[in-house]
Amino acid sequence: MIEISEKSKCTGCGACQNICPKNCVEMLADEEGFLYPKVRNEYCINCRLCEKVCDKPGKIITDYSDRAFGVISSRENIRKRSSSGGVFSLLADFILDNDGIVFGAYFNNKWSVEHGYVNTKNDIDKLRGSKYVQSDTRYTYREVKQFLELGKTVLFTGTGCQIKGLKSFLGKDYENLICQDIVCHGVTPPRLLKKYLELLKKKYKSEVRSISFRDKSTGWKNYSVKILFTNGKSYLKRASDDLYMRSFLSKLYLRPSCYECPCKGEKRESDITLGDFWGVNKIMPELDDDNGCSLVIIHSKKGMELFNSIKEYALFKEVEFSKVEQYNKAIIESAEKPQNREKFIKEVNDNFARTIKNYCKIPVFLMVKIKIWRLFASIKK
Ligand SMILES: Cc1cc2nc3c(=O)[nH]c(=O)nc-3n(C[C@H](O)[C@H](O)[C@H](O)COP(=O)(O)OP(=O)(O)OC[C@H]3O[C@@H](n4cnc5c(N)ncnc54)[C@H](O)[C@@H]3O)c2cc1C
Ligand code: SF4
Ligand code: SF4
Ligand code: SF4
Repeated sequence: MIEISEKSKCTGCGACQNICPKNCVEMLADEEGFLYPKVRNEYCINCRLCEKVCDKPGKIITDYSDRAFGVISSRENIRKRSSSGGVFSLLADFILDNDGIVFGAYFNNKWSVEHGYVNTKNDIDKLRGSKYVQSDTRYTYREVKQFLELGKTVLFTGTGCQIKGLKSFLGKDYENLICQDIVCHGVTPPRLLKKYLELLKKKYKSEVRSISFRDKSTGWKNYSVKILFTNGKSYLKRASDDLYMRSFLSKLYLRPSCYECPCKGEKRESDITLGDFWGVNKIMPELDDDNGCSLVIIHSKKGMELFNSIKEYALFKEVEFSKVEQYNKAIIESAEKPQNREKFIKEVNDNFARTIKNYCKIPVFLMVKIKIWRLFASIKK
């Protein structure tokens, strides 16, 4: 049965939990708050499927040379509510218009993030937007398999390691499955978000109604965190000033596997990858209105067919791969592990605000740059 000897090798994808015929693999939080499999020995029949699904090398799609595009959705109000150029929603709309099913990450009623599916367009909103915390895939791989075997088209979206987990679980190709991953910086545990929300709930004396990590009212490049409370109050802070985003971007509290990510560059198993098209203002300024531009990387014929089906609802232009990589290292490289990670984790769990202020200081030169940039932006308005 599965046992985790090296934490950095476990992404928490949940394939072992999904495949166990006795339902005796549980995903439990470790002392850092990340989920790892734990077997309930009393029910285990020692079939070793959980080990095999994890060892199984994924099938890398080789029928296609990657192509990259800068894309902005022409559905303006949806793009405004999306993290980048709103391409996820275009893909999801198309699949649902054709009687398919869309899987992705949403906030549950405890403000943890988990995977689930939608089958109507009204529900896409709950999957829309980046949630900067690890999503629990639960038993969704089993649900995907059921839909596929009923002949439904399934769009499964998530991190690269979740796509890898799903494909290992399925163990074979399905013509009616299409997978879309994201360019991925890494994930933090639900525990960190909980601490942050507790602080805000106390300050605002209210429960949380909604969270957007990528509010664009201050621009896409200079995005903000926006939280609405049930008492009508709201919190809006630029990411560079927000405590949660400062800790997320500092890479201090990422899952150990994210520092050795098995899904970067050519190791991806998805058909389409979506990310922020950072550098668009330099590479193709005609697609930059600071309301969000997606980088779309196509890895397979299936991916290209789906992209062709949504192109009429978007402005797009092909871009050389080598040009985008330099502005977005997360496409090809794992985050570098900070030396003081463990110390930070110990302290942040005791004192969230003070620890982040101490560890995630913004360098003076950057602070000056931000201030000048904001001054120019306010004069331009
Ligand atoms: C944890 C995380 C780290 C990221 N890091 C980078 C990065 O370093 N560089 C970069 O260019 N882009 C990164 N992205 C991707 C980027 O923020 C956008 O999600 C992406 O460009 C799609 O944007 P969109 O406008 O098309 O759609 P949106 O509507 O904004 O995106 C929705 C999509 O994101 C998925 N999603 C949201 N939260 C999660 C989650 N916690 N786990 C798994 N899937 C999730 C949904 O299932 C859906 O597929 C990251 C996203 C996440 C969630
Ligand atoms: S299958 Fe996924 S969750 Fe299970 S041990 Fe392997 S990497 Fe971890
Ligand atoms: S060995 Fe088989 S029964 Fe035991 S935990 Fe693994 S998958 Fe489940
Ligand atoms: S960085 Fe890699 S291992 Fe970490 S969540 Fe993203 S895809 Fe998974």
